[in-house]
Amino acid sequence: MNIDYESGIKNIGNTDRLKKVFERAEKGDNLTIAFLGGSITQGSLASKPELCYAARVFAWWEKTFPKAKFTFINAGIGATDSQFGCARAAEDVLSFKPDVISIEYAVNDDNNEHFKETYEGAVRKLLSAKNKPAVYTFFNVCYDTGASAEEKHLEIAKYYDIPAFSIKSTIYPLLTKGELAHGDITPDELHPNDKGHELVASVITYGLEKIRKGDCETVNNNNETFPTPVTTNGYEDSVRYRNNNADLAFCTGWTADKEPQDHITDIFKNGWTATEKGAKIAFKVSGSCIGVQYRKTMQLPAPVAVAKVDGKVVATLDANFDETWGDKLVLDTLLDHGEAGEHVVEIEITEAHKEDKLPFYLVSVIASGNPEPLFLKPAFAHTIWGGTRLREDYGYEEPGDDIGECWGISAHPNGEGIVKNGKYAGEKLSTLWNEHPELFGNKGEDGKAKLPYDRFPLLTKIIDAKADLSIQVHPDDEYAKVHENGSFGKTECWYVLDCPENGTLVIGHNAKDKAELESMIREGRWNEFIREVPVKKGDFIQINPGTVHAIKGGILLLETQQNSDITYRVYDYDRLQNGKPRQLHVDQSIDVITVPALPAKDSVKNFADTPVNTLAEMYSCKYYTVLKANVEGKMSFENNAPFMCISIISGEGTLNGYEVKKGDHLIMPEAVKKINANGTMNMILSYI
Ligand code: ZN
Repeated sequence: MNIDYESGIKNIGNTDRLKKVFERAEKGDNLTIAFLGGSITQGSLASKPELCYAARVFAWWEKTFPKAKFTFINAGIGATDSQFGCARAAEDVLSFKPDVISIEYAVNDDNNEHFKETYEGAVRKLLSAKNKPAVYTFFNVCYDTGASAEEKHLEIAKYYDIPAFSIKSTIYPLLTKGELAHGDITPDELHPNDKGHELVASVITYGLEKIRKGDCETVNNNNETFPTPVTTNGYEDSVRYRNNNADLAFCTGWTADKEPQDHITDIFKNGWTATEKGAKIAFKVSGSCIGVQYRKTMQLPAPVAVAKVDGKVVATLDANFDETWGDKLVLDTLLDHGEAGEHVVEIEITEAHKEDKLPFYLVSVIASGNPEPLFLKPAFAHTIWGGTRLREDYGYEEPGDDIGECWGISAHPNGEGIVKNGKYAGEKLSTLWNEHPELFGNKGEDGKAKLPYDRFPLLTKIIDAKADLSIQVHPDDEYAKVHENGSFGKTECWYVLDCPENGTLVIGHNAKDKAELESMIREGRWNEFIREVPVKKGDFIQINPGTVHAIKGGILLLETQQNSDITYRVYDYDRLQNGKPRQLHVDQSIDVITVPALPAKDSVKNFADTPVNTLAEMYSCKYYTVLKANVEGKMSFENNAPFMCISIISGEGTLNGYEVKKGDHLIMPEAVKKINANGTMNMILSYI
C-alpha cells in the first residue's frame, strides 16, 4: 500500500502560529488541542473513542512532545455542517481557549457558494479568537463517489493561509486503484472504520510533522489586520438563541427545557418543547440571515410546525424523520441575506396527533449577518511621562518603556486608527469618514453630508501617566479656528481606570482674577497657582476648554475628546526632553484660561459601581455623550446614534456575536440599530 502523502498537502500557508505552538510544546507548556467538525470528528464508526482520527492526531501531539501537557477537546457533532459549526464555535471550541484547532466539514457541507460562505465564517471566527490559535483543516471524502466540498473549502484555506490536507488525494486513490477494498476502511462509504480513521490521521500527522520539521515553504505575512472576506460573510457573527439567552416576543404552549446539557453531543437541550396544535413562540433577533434548529425524530408520528419571519410563513418544520440511523438535528434557513435589522421569528405547531411519541423539539434560532463593527488598530504616542502599562495591563503589542498614550479610536493625522476586520480592513478611519459617510450616519437623502463636522469628530485614548504630565490648557473651537489653522478646539473628559492611593489630578487653579493669574504664571508661583484634587478609580471628570489640568503620575485613564491635538503647555516642571525643555505656550495659555476656575467639588463624579446591564450616562455636552456599561451576562440596548464608539476597559465577552476583550476599541456603524452584549466586562461608550 503506497500512500502519496505529498499530494495530500493542498496548502501549507502561514505556519507562524503552529510553529509557536511547537516551540511551547518543546518547552513543556500546557496546550489545548481542539477538533471541530461533524460525525467523523466525533468518532463515528470507530470501535472505541481512542481509535478515531482526532484521538490519534492528539496522540501524535503527546508522543511528539513528551514534556508538554495536553488537553483534548473533541467538538465533533454528527450530521451537522459548518453553518452550525460557525454558530457554536465560540461556545463549543473557543471557550476552552485552544492553542490548535482542526476544522473538518468537507463531507457535511456541499461544494457550493452557501457552504463556502459558512465555512469562511467559521474559519474567520476561529482565526480571530483573541488567543490567536493555530488553525488547520483537512477534507474527508465520500468513498463511493469521491465527492466533497474540498474545492470550495480549499479556496478559503488558501485565502487565509491555513494548512490543508486532502483525503481524496491520499486515501481515496487506494480504493480506485484497487489497493484496498471499500469495506476495508469504510462500512458505509462515508465514515471510516478503525483502519480508515488510522489512515485519515496519518495524512494529518504527515502534514503536521512536515511543518514541525520546517520541511516546507511557508507564507510570510505577519499581518495584524484580517483580510477582507471573499464571500458576503453573512455568518461569522452568528448568535445562537436558546432558552438561556433568547429575547422572546411571546410564548404560549411551549415549555423551556432546563435539563442540563451533559456534553456538546447532547444536542436536544436548552430548547423548547410543545405538543399542542396552536402553540406559538416568537423570537426577536437581528441580522440578515436566520436559521432554525429542531429535531426530526424516527419515532413516528411527530408534530409539524411552520416558521414565520415578520408574519410571513417561510418554512414548514416537519419533525417526522423517515430514517433508521437516529434522531437528527436539522438546521433550516428562514432568511437568506434578507434585510439587515430586527426581525420577529415565530414558530407555531400546525399539526399534532394523539399518537405523537415525542413533543416537537425546537433547539434554537440562529441569526447573523449584522453590519460589522469597525475594530480599530490603535496608534501609540511615546512620551517622557509614559510607562509600560499599556502593554502589560492592556495587552497592546507596543515596545518601549515610555508608552504614554494609546489612541484607540482616532482619525487624527498625528495617530490614526486602521480598521482591523471585515471589508474595510486596512483602511484609515479618516478615509472611511470621507468615502463611506453612511457608516457614520453622515449621508443625507441628497447624498450630501448630514452632520456638522468636516472630519471624524471624536478621539478616544487610554493614557498611562507613569510620571506627571505638564500643566496645560486647551482652547475652544472659536479660539482654535482663528489661532490654530482651523483646528477644532479641545473639550475632553476623563474616566479614571486606575489610580494609586492618595492619587490626584490637577483640575483648575487658585487665581481669583486675570491679573493674579498672569502674575502667578509669569512669576512661576506654581505652588500657589496649581489646584490638585484627590481622585479614585471610577471617577469621571469633564475638562472644558480653558480649564487648567494635568494628569499626575500613577494614574491610568480613558480620555474621550474632540478630534484635536491642540495643547497649550503652561508649566512642565522644568523637565528636559533630549536635553532641552519642551516648548511652553504662556501667552496663549493666559489668553484661554477661564478665571476663576469652576469649584473643585463640581468637577469630579464617581461611576465605579454603575448598575449592572444598564447604560449609565456620565456626561453629555454639545460635543459628546459618554456612557459606561457594566455587563454581567446578557445586555441589549438600542443604538440611535449616528455611530457609537466603544472601548472595553475590563473583562471580555461578545458584542453582536464578535469576541471582545479588555483593550479593544471599535465603532458600531449607523446600520447597527441594536447592540447585544454578552460576557463579564466594562465598557465606555461615546457618541455625538
Ligand atoms: Zn488635556
